[in-house]
Amino acid sequence: MESYEILWKTALDEIEKTVSTISFEAYVKMLEPVDVKANTLVLITKTKLFADHVADNLKNKIVAAVSKVNPSITEVEICVFASKEDYYKDALEKENNAPPTGSAINPKFTFDNFVVGSSNQMIYAAAKAVAENPGDAFNPLFIYGGSGLGKTHILMAIANYLKINSPQINVLYATCDQFTNQFITSLSRGKRAPEDFRNKYRNVDVLLIDDVQFLSKKPETQTEFFHTFNELIMQNKQIVLTCDRPPKEINVLEDRLRTRFEGGLLADVQPPDLETKIAILKKKSEEQKTYIELKVLSYIAEKSDLDVRSLIGRLTKVIFASKLLEKPITIDLVNEALKESAGEIQEELQVDDIIKCVSDFYHISKSDLVGKKKNKEFTEPRHVCIYLITELMSLPQEFIGR
Ligand code: ADP
Ligand code: MG
Repeated sequence: MESYEILWKTALDEIEKTVSTISFEAYVKMLEPVDVKANTLVLITKTKLFADHVADNLKNKIVAAVSKVNPSITEVEICVFASKEDYYKDALEKENNAPPTGSAINPKFTFDNFVVGSSNQMIYAAAKAVAENPGDAFNPLFIYGGSGLGKTHILMAIANYLKINSPQINVLYATCDQFTNQFITSLSRGKRAPEDFRNKYRNVDVLLIDDVQFLSKKPETQTEFFHTFNELIMQNKQIVLTCDRPPKEINVLEDRLRTRFEGGLLADVQPPDLETKIAILKKKSEEQKTYIELKVLSYIAEKSDLDVRSLIGRLTKVIFASKLLEKPITIDLVNEALKESAGEIQEELQVDDIIKCVSDFYHISKSDLVGKKKNKEFTEPRHVCIYLITELMSLPQEFIGR
C-alpha cells in the first residue's frame, strides 16, 4: 500500500467524526487518494460537480483530519479524473512537457562524505558556513578550481544540508546551462514565460549555480543573471557559484558581473595531495562495502596523478574487475585492471563500459540488455547492470532510465 493510501485510510476515521453521515457516505468515501506532492495530498473524483461540492463544503474538515494524521501535509487538492490511471497518465504528460526545473540533487553528495584535506578545506569550511547561516556568511560565495575536484559535490552538499536542517528554506540548484536554456526558452514561450522564469529564480532563499564559466560570451543571459543576482543579494538571499577558473579569467564577462562575483568570498580548490587521495579512496571503498588494504589504496593513489573524479574512476575499475573476475583486490589485480588506462590523462568509468562488460559477461547483445524484452535471460543482466551503475558510479536511480 502506498503511503498516501495509508494516510487516507487513517484520515477517513477522523473525518467520519466531524462530518454528517450523508456527507461521509455520499462524498468523502467517493474520493480516491492518488499522490502526495510536497505538502499536498491529491484526491480524485469523477465529476466536476462533485469536486466543487467537496471543495466548497468539506475540504477544510478533510485538511484538518489529514494534517492531524500527518502534520507535514497541510493542503488537499481535489482533481477531476475518471480513474487513477488517467491521473497518472496526465501527470506524466505534464512532467514531460514542463519547462525544465532545477536539476535533481544527488543525495549522495553531502558534507559527511566529503573528505577534507589541505587542498579543499577552504571550500569545505566556506560552504559549511554558508549552509549553516545562509545570507549571513559570505555572499556570494564563489568556488573555483579544476574539473573533478569536488565543486559540484560541495554545492549539492549545501542543498542537502539545508533540506534536512532547514526544510523551510527554498533552495534552487541549477547549472549555468540550465539557467541559460530556460532563459532563452522563456523568451519564446509567450508573454508570461519570462516573468515565470524571473519569479522562479528571484524568489528563492538560496541560489546555487554550477559552472558559471558558461556565462562567457552570452551577453543577454549575463544581463538577466546580473539582475537576478542583484535582486537576491539586495534581499540578503544567499548565492553560491562554482566555476572552473577565477572571475578575472572568465573571458568575455561583463565587468559589472565580474566585480559582483569578486564581491564576496573567493574560495579555491586544488588537486588533492597523496594523503587526501588515500583518504578519499578509503572512504569510497568503504561506501561500496569493499575492504581494500591500505598498501593497495596507496598504490592506486600513487599511480594516479589526477583529479578526484578520475581517482574514483580508477578505484571503481579495480572494484569492478575484482567482482567480475572474482579475485581479491591486490596490487596485481590493480595493475591488471588499470593496464589499459596507464598513461591516459582523463580516466573515468562510463555507463557504456558497464553495459559492454555486462553484455559480454552474459553473452547477450547490448540492444537486448538495454531493450524492453521481459525474458528472464535479459532481465537478470539488466538488473545487474542497473545495480552496478548505481553502486559504482554514484548515480541516483532516476538517471539510469535515460
Ligand atoms: P567538479 O564539479 O569540481 O568537476 P565533482 O563535484 O563532480 O567535481 O566531483 C567529482 C567526483 O569526485 C564526485 O563523485 C565527487 O563526489 C567526488 N569528490 C570530489 N572531491 C571529493 C572529496 N573531497 N571527498 C569525496 N569525494 C569527492
Ligand atoms: Mg561540476
